[in-house]
Amino acid sequence: MIFPMPATTTASMIQRKIDNGICTLTFDRPESGANIFDVATMRDLAAHLDEIEKDNSLRGLIITSAKKSIFIAGADLKTLLKQAQSGELRAFIAEGQRTFNRITALKIPTVAAIHGATAGGGYEVALACDWRVATDDPATKIGLPETTLGLVPAWGGTTRLPLLIGAEKAAEVITKGKLYSAKEALALGLVDELAPRDQLVDLARTKIQSSKPKRTAPAKIDKEIPAPRSTGNEAPRRAIAIINKAAPIDESLGMELDAIVDLGETEATQNLIRNFFLADKYKKGAPADKIVHAAVIGAGVMGSGIAQWLSARGVTVILRDVSREFVDRGLANIDKTYADAVKRSIMTEEKAKEGRARIICTTAHVELRDVQIVIEAASEKIDIKKEIFRELAANAPKAILATNTSALSISELGEESGWPERVVGLHFFNPVSRMKLIEVVVGEKTSDETRDRSLAFARQIGKTPVLVRDKPGFLVNRVLFPYLLDAAELFESGVDAGKIDNALLSWGMPMGPLRLIDEIGVDVTVDIASTLERAFGKRDRAPEILKQMLSAKLLGRKSGAGFYKYQGKSQSPNDALAQWRKSRAKEDVDLTNRLALLMVNEAARCVEEGVVDSAQDADYGMHLGTGFPAFRGGPLRFADHFGIKRVVEELEKLAKTDEKFAPCELLKTHAKNGTKFYE
Ligand code: NAD
Repeated sequence: MIFPMPATTTASMIQRKIDNGICTLTFDRPESGANIFDVATMRDLAAHLDEIEKDNSLRGLIITSAKKSIFIAGADLKTLLKQAQSGELRAFIAEGQRTFNRITALKIPTVAAIHGATAGGGYEVALACDWRVATDDPATKIGLPETTLGLVPAWGGTTRLPLLIGAEKAAEVITKGKLYSAKEALALGLVDELAPRDQLVDLARTKIQSSKPKRTAPAKIDKEIPAPRSTGNEAPRRAIAIINKAAPIDESLGMELDAIVDLGETEATQNLIRNFFLADKYKKGAPADKIVHAAVIGAGVMGSGIAQWLSARGVTVILRDVSREFVDRGLANIDKTYADAVKRSIMTEEKAKEGRARIICTTAHVELRDVQIVIEAASEKIDIKKEIFRELAANAPKAILATNTSALSISELGEESGWPERVVGLHFFNPVSRMKLIEVVVGEKTSDETRDRSLAFARQIGKTPVLVRDKPGFLVNRVLFPYLLDAAELFESGVDAGKIDNALLSWGMPMGPLRLIDEIGVDVTVDIASTLERAFGKRDRAPEILKQMLSAKLLGRKSGAGFYKYQGKSQSPNDALAQWRKSRAKEDVDLTNRLALLMVNEAARCVEEGVVDSAQDADYGMHLGTGFPAFRGGPLRFADHFGIKRVVEELEKLAKTDEKFAPCELLKTHAKNGTKFYE
């Protein structure tokens, strides 16, 4: 056999090298840290395959990447979104299928040598190979996240993965859309073998020495995989239908193609892809000096959560409360959060210890001279907070003075401190360890410097800030409350709790509104409602039943019963509420329209009044703060899609019986002019 001299051909996205009869294709997108599949990369790959198919001297093919921590991140989503909108998706996806089929059809053994993130199309090219070997490095993460973006893996993933690991496991990998660590990927069979990074190529070469495995034909599925619940994102259902069909490969690829084209045309999928880009956009911002010393006042639910979060991200924290008992309770919370993180392998024990050691507790009003930011998270009482802000102005002369208040006025606290330019709202959400959003609230006199440093600080600690102005409820609570309170009112008027909550669950909310009130607490709900009612009137009035529940101490989950009774993990209707309900509602109301449109109306008001800078801020804030479904794009994008004229008509119809539904001016203007929130 003749061994040609090593030869290198450089195409723009992929380098081809032949060494000892083995051809290596190295993905290396110029001037980028990542490899992605766009039209140019796919063409490059096809051109290289032209050469490989012609070269009879080759003994094997290795596909790999030159990037530090990415194999191939998947298809270029920007192109995909554009093509989906213009109806050109089919050609690009079909071309990818044809190209990957050519890899499968090669007579020589083929191996994907994987190091780093390998997602979607990146894993599908690996699936087209005979073997997949990967590094055991933490950077290696493998999976098919397409369904989380409203798509199905359509470059052969939905067809080839079941052949590799079985229908059931493939269904789980595809519908969950999660990226797996190298070890998990090995256990699932997503890869065949692992090696340390410096031995990856050798391992790939050994695979080429072994004989080429036979491709299995699709086998009949013994037991159909049940279709996932319909949520508005139809991608998981489409993927399962393809897996269940287990059709011959060409037919199955045809089904992938049809599914992705259909899905790409839907508003839901386009919203999910847009949302993916928003996550990046909101994480970026002007850099600022890092904050390394903080103080947190109040060691309750929020204060202890915030202290834990900061300390885990390298910030030292002085945590202060009024008595030892409260401090100890806060510390117990902090210890528990750290212990959970270790148990769930989110953090090593060492890192948890280091983090915990960054917290110092006190009950004394020590001077806070070195502290760069103070976050006040004491009880929601204006007098308590005013006193704290007076004292902080003197004790923390250089710090940003932030409050975590849910509804009190930032400007008022600013005035009280005598240093309003340093005062800002940093509204974290509960539980702090899970919720990504921080509303950064600027008061009338908050300085630009305080605002910018606060936004940068939120990003520094890995949260996503949305800028809001100082009006009661800021953005999230303001938009959420009319919706929650109306759900309680519907319940009071006789509609079943389960019916209300299930309607909103099916609409895509992560939790029904009554269940959410139980989580927030009936007491806190009534409190926030009364602050909002003072500012905005009837639409924020708590219905009588909430007040009855409050006096009967039916406070929701924390007291064991609210709209539901809670026992361990189970939840059942709370019959004790019957005495305060009216007879069953006679007319059948359109629950989701009515409730969703209340959020639309209030979000539109937030734009109208400048509480947020844009419809996008309102939409993304609601998504992060309440789990408003990404596939609906947020209340205002939903309004655009629903038709603003129709929104106004529906609201006006409802307003005939209850004025709280009256549409705001901005909605009416859009309806009149035929304009939208997003042009
Ligand atoms: P909490 O009752 O659990 O904790 C409040 C803590 O503040 C208590 O430990 C109390 O002893 C302490 N405190 C009272 N006066 C103090 C003082 N002068 N100095 C120091 N500590 C003092 O309340 P929480 O739920 O943690 O809420 C705290 C703040 O966060 C409130 O402003 C609330 O509106 C806001 N918030 C709460 C949530 C939530 O879901 N719980 C969400 C966002 C914002």
